[in-house]
Amino acid sequence: MSLMTREDMLRELELLPIWQSREPIKMVASEVGTTEKVVAAHVDSANIDKVGANKADASEADASEADAGNFDDSKTDALSARSELIQQMDWQSLQQSVQSCQACVLAKTRTQTVFGAGDAHADWLFVGEAPGAEEDLQGEPFVGQAGKLLDNMLAAIQLRRGQNVYIANVLKCRPPENRDPHDEEISQCQPYLKRQVALIQPKLIVALGKFAAQTLLQSENALAENTLASLRGQLHDYHGVPVIVTYHPAYLLRSLADKAKAWEDLCFAKKTMQGL
Ligand code: URA
Repeated sequence: MSLMTREDMLRELELLPIWQSREPIKMVASEVGTTEKVVAAHVDSANIDKVGANKADASEADASEADAGNFDDSKTDALSARSELIQQMDWQSLQQSVQSCQACVLAKTRTQTVFGAGDAHADWLFVGEAPGAEEDLQGEPFVGQAGKLLDNMLAAIQLRRGQNVYIANVLKCRPPENRDPHDEEISQCQPYLKRQVALIQPKLIVALGKFAAQTLLQSENALAENTLASLRGQLHDYHGVPVIVTYHPAYLLRSLADKAKAWEDLCFAKKTMQGL
């Protein structure tokens, strides 16, 4: 298997000028889907190469072990290339890119993507985990039972969906049977959330549940060691935006005792916002 240098790969992806000139690329909406496919295809082909390496005969075993490292590097490069591109998109391009995204397996099972909903200039950003069955059908976040509770939580602090509030998820596609998101899916989808935050410029983010907290705080905390409970009651940071962690509404539907704690978190969030 021939090894591809970083430069070769970037050239193949037609991304090299980004690294050369440092000039921001203006993405036009019509190009977005294509770029997505190119980057996703690269990741796919890296996977195919890896499968090929696994099938190599015994004489190639050592070489394929070395290739595994190279595969990881090229996958990381493809992920960061994809993220670079996404970070240059405007709102419309971002929406279209999400809509046509094929970067992970969830594209095969979704009915539609769920980009997010609300005021695109909101001070408040609430981030959940992933669309469920109802959201997958309607294309809107938090429209099922958990969504009703979220609406009540918002009302408790005098907020309403769509009025100075934006609601998004870590994943834009429904995991089948509402299973937990896989790391690969979070890695592929995370740049979309990052760009949403950059464009919305909220004053405060409320992370709803473990996966939102994990995704938003990964640079700050090695979250594997932190339980959600240990992250509550503090101000965290996501690219300069304060983050407050609370329980996911779906969890609260099952664990009524923790509703009082979620109420404390909401009061903390409200008080924090008043001081921003
Ligand atoms: N749970 C989430 O995390 N997000 C939704 O949109 C719905 C349920």
